[in-house]
Amino acid sequence: MVRKRYLLYILLTLLVTACVTTPVTERKALILIPFEQELALGAQAYREVLNKEKESGDERLKAIIRRVGRRIASVSDMPDLDWEFTLIESKEKNAFALPGGKVAFYEGILGVCENEAGVATVMGHEVAHAIARHGAQRLSQELIMTGVLTAAAIRLEDRNNKDLILAALGLGATVGITLPFSRMNEAEADYIGLIYMARAGYDPREAVNFWRRFNKLKKGKQIPEFLSTHPSDEKRIQEIERLLPLALKEYARAGHHYGLGERLLK
Ligand SMILES: [Zn+2]
Repeated sequence: MVRKRYLLYILLTLLVTACVTTPVTERKALILIPFEQELALGAQAYREVLNKEKESGDERLKAIIRRVGRRIASVSDMPDLDWEFTLIESKEKNAFALPGGKVAFYEGILGVCENEAGVATVMGHEVAHAIARHGAQRLSQELIMTGVLTAAAIRLEDRNNKDLILAALGLGATVGITLPFSRMNEAEADYIGLIYMARAGYDPREAVNFWRRFNKLKKGKQIPEFLSTHPSDEKRIQEIERLLPLALKEYARAGHHYGLGERLLK
């Protein structure tokens, strides 16, 4: 009897926490992990990465990353998270965002960004992953597949689940490698990110230029880990071009207009 009641309790909890609506796209998503726990996992994973990496010593670039990050976070659907934006000293062309608003850029991606609007393209995309809770969705799918019903019991300290949790949140066992999400989640992050960058006052047309530069790199065989199996190339650019009129409307309504912003590398 007690056991039955316990199972009922679990099922009710799942029903309450399971279905969420994604901001901007309004897509329904299944999430079995309580939000508070997701935030704690994200913050903890972020500390682990930062402990192993070296922060950039370039104060000007660090300030730009923070400025673009703050502007995008403040127009996002979760402005009140404890947002943090770190620039890591590394040639990797990479960036990631973890639940709870923990964002990191690697110096190597800045050459592709070229200007603040390019940073805003990547920032918008990564912030969108965090806000659409794609990490929690992937973790939920893993939990269902592995038959772990007690989502509330998973912790980063638990050695057995650690790699699974980090990978689901977008970090590989080797820290610094962002695992791409599903194509649907990637397209969704592009969409939400484009709207956020425009709302923050960055010219959304630069997103098309950013992805062109990015694709050129890929063709040059220097495949960046960041977004390596993302819905790439022409299809992605076509989709962004399709969404541009909507993004330009958001841009027209934005409180500030920074255009392309400052150039990154002088
Ligand atoms: Zn992505």
